[in-house]
Amino acid sequence: MSLRPPPSLGLVLPCYNEAEVLPETARQLMVLLDALQAEGRIASARVYFVDDGSRDATWSLIEELARADPRFSGLKLSRNRGHQNALMAGLATARQDAVISLDADLQDDPNVIGAMVDAYRGGAEIVLGVRDDRTSDSVFKRSTARGYYRFLHGLGVDIVADHADYRLMSARALKALAGYTEVNLFLRALVPQLGFSVATVPYRRAERFAGESKYPLGKMLGFAFEGVTSFSTRPLRLITIIGIAVSSVSFFLALWALVTAVFMRSTVPGWASTVVPIYFICGVQLLCVGIIGEYVGKIYLETKRRPRFIVDRNLDDGADA
Ligand code: UDP
Ligand code: MG
Repeated sequence: MSLRPPPSLGLVLPCYNEAEVLPETARQLMVLLDALQAEGRIASARVYFVDDGSRDATWSLIEELARADPRFSGLKLSRNRGHQNALMAGLATARQDAVISLDADLQDDPNVIGAMVDAYRGGAEIVLGVRDDRTSDSVFKRSTARGYYRFLHGLGVDIVADHADYRLMSARALKALAGYTEVNLFLRALVPQLGFSVATVPYRRAERFAGESKYPLGKMLGFAFEGVTSFSTRPLRLITIIGIAVSSVSFFLALWALVTAVFMRSTVPGWASTVVPIYFICGVQLLCVGIIGEYVGKIYLETKRRPRFIVDRNLDDGADA
């Protein structure tokens, strides 16, 4: 099988308060890209650091890097818009044959970039980095992650377990992705929907090189929720089923109460049997209204069609180094 020619390669790294790791990340990437270029596996390279409204020295570091080496470029968003939007901003700017997104904290092992490029050259339009072990995670994160992927599968969401946002996309795949204009972004489930030929490359996720996680529990839960409500309407169906089940049960309860009252002349004493179901059904109703509300909220956000991000500064001149 003939290989595609060595591609021009773009790297997109969302950065939110990453001043502590950026110099080391840039250094490691440079060494790696030099090697790939020397081996003739890529034609050229450009690295896009997307500053997602950082409050530390991240942007001035990016400017410095871009001044020092034309292969470094940067994008500054007008404010913090979150990881997924920052990724999207970078992906929308990069114009290379193949573009890889990875975290700025060196958790996504840069050494598999070569393997991703090789898979692209072998014909894949999308190459997913998949973690082959989760030993660098806490037991809590590992078990909740596994349960979550199972849950999503159960809801019919097409998602690859243990793949986050470390992936290569060809220019064709990126063009297709640009057609998705939703503001509620959950890229790891969106990309498989594009179709195309997909390859996977295993990698070991390292500990964060420096600094701390920008994904506290609350943000992570919100993101997990996003994955469900952006890709599955089955919870709404579930509500209908719960509604039917609860009303059938109460219908039979009413029947039973009527029968005992008429034929046995005995009414059930005590209020527990009356009050408990009321609380229960109220709870179920509130939950259902809440779930519907989540979807309505999402529709509200989508109908406004607000921009997903606003670029404040762009260091990219469009020419490839
Ligand atoms: N990030 C971002 N905007 C945010 C939060 C995170 O651009 O609002 C970036 C962050 O700089 C990093 C990547 O997204 O490059 C992943 O975040 P992090 O490493 O904190 O998440 P974790 O690996 O702990 O899940
Ligand atoms: Mg990280």
